[in-house]
This record gives sequence, structure tokens and C-alpha cells, in this order.
Amino acid sequence: MIAQAARTRREVLQLAGAAAGGAALAQLGVPAIGTARSATTLAALERKLGGVLTVPGDLSYGAAAALWNQRLSVAPRAIAFCQSVSDVQQVLAFARGRGWPVAARSGRHSFEGYCNTTGIVCDVTALNDVRFDRTHGTVKVGAGNNVQSLWQSVVVDGGRGIQNGTCPTVGLGGLVLGGGLTGTSRKYGALVDDVVAVSVVLPDGRYVQASASRRPELFWALRGGGGGNFGVATSFTIRTHGAPLVYDFEISYSWSKAAEVYAQWQALAPTMPREMTACTLRLSRVPPPSGSGAYELKVVIGGHWMGTKAELEDLLEPLVAIGPEKLPITIIRIPYASAHRPSGCELEPNGSTSCHLAGSSGDYPNYQRSDFFTEPVPAAGIAEIVSQVEQWPGGPGSYEGGVQLEAFGAPSKMNAVAPDAMAWMHRDSLYHTVYLNFWGQPESEAANVEWVNSFYAAMRPYSSGQAYQNYIDAGLTSWRSAYYGANWKRLQRIKRAYDPENLLAFKQGVTPSR
Ligand SMILES: Cc1cc2nc3c(=O)[nH]c(=O)nc-3n(C[C@H](O)[C@H](O)[C@H](O)COP(=O)(O)OP(=O)(O)OC[C@H]3O[C@@H](n4cnc5c(N)ncnc54)[C@H](O)[C@@H]3O)c2cc1C
Repeated sequence: MIAQAARTRREVLQLAGAAAGGAALAQLGVPAIGTARSATTLAALERKLGGVLTVPGDLSYGAAAALWNQRLSVAPRAIAFCQSVSDVQQVLAFARGRGWPVAARSGRHSFEGYCNTTGIVCDVTALNDVRFDRTHGTVKVGAGNNVQSLWQSVVVDGGRGIQNGTCPTVGLGGLVLGGGLTGTSRKYGALVDDVVAVSVVLPDGRYVQASASRRPELFWALRGGGGGNFGVATSFTIRTHGAPLVYDFEISYSWSKAAEVYAQWQALAPTMPREMTACTLRLSRVPPPSGSGAYELKVVIGGHWMGTKAELEDLLEPLVAIGPEKLPITIIRIPYASAHRPSGCELEPNGSTSCHLAGSSGDYPNYQRSDFFTEPVPAAGIAEIVSQVEQWPGGPGSYEGGVQLEAFGAPSKMNAVAPDAMAWMHRDSLYHTVYLNFWGQPESEAANVEWVNSFYAAMRPYSSGQAYQNYIDAGLTSWRSAYYGANWKRLQRIKRAYDPENLLAFKQGVTPSR
């Protein structure tokens, strides 16, 4: 089976411009425009589907193939918008018969565009039912839901709390299967800790349920084994929680305090009780809002607390003693639904969401990397972090560069689960870090990629070596151990049992082995 090779957007444009139509697309592995259906038996597949099939040459193809990350472009030979489990089965049967690679696709937010393939894409966004089981306190949600629709139907309409991501257009397919870090993870764990069953179409076409009692090995693998590896998930049954009023807080500091804030935050936040459902620190460099003038450097701590105001003020006291820019600091009591409202993207006038970062007119090309820290970073490392953020190159039309840290630590539910209880094994961290890096124009790409790579290299002496599989990173050579640790071999055995031909294959996919 051919592993997918993601090309940069520039490479695709160069290829497309280098030769007239067919030749360029042929280099991308795409049949020539106008011949796509007739040259293959795709037309026969299309007749069997309730949903729509899109191929190169169709007017809708460009939008159908577009990825969230503007840095990348992968041109599938066909994209099937499945309407039902039966459609998913038809797509897998078609691919099996021809040896085409298949990629499952939900919200298209894979950092490396792995939801597209040079073969056929099995898009499940139409599988977006939401059904409550109030007796058991669970909800069964179609894998085509995204963070926005989950929040709307479960939290706003259903009045229940559920673990959820932040960006409205992130899809549940990838979010759940790769773990799910949420605004309540310190209290309830990763999103996969709340998953009680998964419905999945296996590569051999069988539609099955996986849970603690039915196919427990598959269930083990699906919880953190990463999207796109073991089948096409069609729905998840997820535990819900109460939705109480919560305290939301934010503390901003001047940049001169950055190192002191980092040191105090990493000593304190991972020790806080679980009622501190999230506590993040963001150090970033941003272009001036007007587009001209000096870049700004920002240090912000924020989070959510499910306790009393007095308890929260006590906990935050050492962070306040450093001297925030504004006193009193912002602490507000708000409904759960407001605290966990998805943000970071724009709500379109027609009610749909598109992943524009706040205030922007489009998505940003980006290359972000991930690290889990299990030990505090010493002063020399903190000085390096501060200096690296100051050096973010940005460029015309860029958005932000820096780091965002999410605290976990021993008291958190994240670390209360054994690393081999399921495939998701990051159970010993003080915090997770994402190196943020959103630029604007193609000419800024090289400098920004070099910046994040050099920042990442400088952190090697301090990081645990673990990385988050949902911040999937094609530049990470140690990805097998970084994402899966000691669970890798077991994942390979399960892959062999369920996908021995490696029908669902991609560059950083689990490969079958004994
Ligand atoms: C702007 C942004 C914000 C984010 N915020 C968060 C956050 O708050 N918390 C967090 O934990 N992560 C976050 N992420 C990371 C996110 O969880 C991953 O990118 C995730 O893989 C996206 O899932 P998707 O369905 O949108 O993506 P896709 O690109 O559609 O899929 C991602 C991977 O999952 C596979 N997959 C998708 N659907 C299925 C399915 N139905 N069955 C089997 N495999 C499937 C794909 O083949 C691919 O390999 C964020 C990412 C972005 C870009």
C-alpha cells in the first residue's frame, strides 16, 4: 500500500503550472481533468452511494480537497461524501478491490493533511447525529460532528457538560481517536477517557461496535491510537458531566516578567486540584493590530475553576504577587456553556463555521510542534524559551508565534490513568506545550519553519520526548515512541488483526506487525 506523500501548497502550484492540465495532475497522482470518472470505475461506485462523489475536474473539487493547513495540499483521486454506514462500506470495498489507499476524514484539521490521500477520501461529515441516553448519562454522536456542533447540541441544547476542543471546526473523528485535550481535562482526563463505545466500519467492510465488553482490544487501540488507522469511525458514545457555573480568569503580565511567570506557573499550576479544570500559560509574539509598527510580546495565564471564589483567589495568590499588568485581575462567574464556547474561528453569516483565527480574513499556513514536559524546565531553559519567542519572525500578514502550555500534573485525572489502560499513554506530564507558529505569506514559510525547528531543538534537553499524536508532525522522526511509547507494539498487533493489508495507510500510520 502506498503511503501518502503530502506536498507543500507551493509544490502543488508549481506542478499545476509547470505543464498543461493532465501532465501536472498526473504527477500528483490525479487522473486528467475530464477523464477522471471514465478512466476508472468510479462512476460505478458513485451509483452505489447515497452521498456525492467528487473527482478532479468537478467544479466542487477544489473546495472538497481543501485542507485546514494552507501549507499543505494533497490531491485525492476521489472524495466520497458518505451519507450512511453503507456508503462507508461501499468506499472501503471499492478501495480494497483496487488497492487504492483510503483516508477517513472528519474535520480536515490534521496538522499534516493526513485526512487526504492520493487514493480515495472517505468523508463522514454528514454522519452528525446526536442522541442522548439520559439513563446512562451518555450521548452517541456521529463522527462527522465538530467541536461547534457538539457544544451546541450537548451543552447548549442538552444542558450537559462534555469534554470538547476549542476550535469550532475541529472534527470529532480526529479529535476523539487521537486523545482530545480539553478545557476540562484536569478534572475528567483526555476526551478518550470519557469514550465508552465506538462504532466503526473495519477495512474488511464489517460494521462493528468496540467497547470494554465487545472487541476490547480494538477499543483499547481506538482510544488514542490515532485517527485513520483501524477503520472508519462512524459514531462515539461519550460520557457527559454536569454543567455548573464556573469561574473564568485571566492574568496578563508585562514581557519583562515572562521568565518569572513561567517559573512560578510551572511550579504551581500542575499541583492544583482537579477543580482547576484548565490552567494555561501563553507566551507569544504578535504583529501590531494596525499591521505596521513594532510586534507585541504577550504573557497571559488563563483558566477555569469549579469551586468558590475565595479558594480560587488563594490558589492564584502567588501568580498575582508577581505583579500583573492590571489589578484586580479578571475573575468572572459564567455559565458552563459560555466558559466552553468554542472560539478561535469565525461563525459565518449562514451559521456555518470556518477556521479563521480571530480578526483574520482566512486560514493561516502553519507548522506547529508539540512536547510533553515531565520535569520542571530549569532557569537556563526558561531563558531560552523567552529568547526564542522574542525571535519569532512572523512576516507580512502573519498571526502569532510562541508557546501555549496546558497544565496537568499529579492531582489531575489525566495522570490518574495507567499508561497502558488504552493507547493514549501520556499520563505523567506536568504540562503539554504546543509551539505556535502562524505566518501569512508563502515567502515567510522558510524563516518560520526554521524558527520552530530551532526552538524545538533547543528544548530537547528539557522535554520528555513524548508528543501529542493529534498535533501530528511529519518532522518528528521518533514519532512511534513519542506518540505511543510502550504501546506501539500492541498497536501493531491490533493493526495486523484488523487491517493486515494496511488499507488505511499514511506516513505516520500504525503498520501491521506481529
Ligand atoms: C485550529 C486547531 C485547533 C485544535 N484544537 C485542539 C484542541 O483544543 N484539543 C485537541 O486535543 N486537539 C486540538 N487540535 C488538534 C486536533 O485534535 C487534530 O488536528 C485532529 O486530528 C483533527 O481532527 P479532524 O477530524 O478535524 O481532522 P481530519 O484531518 O479530518 O482527521 C485527522 C486524522 O484523523 C483521521 N480521521 C478523521 N476522521 C476519522 C474517522 N471518522 N475515523 C477514523 N479516522 C478518522 C484522519 O484520517 C486523519 O488521520 C486542534 C487542531 C487545530 C488545527
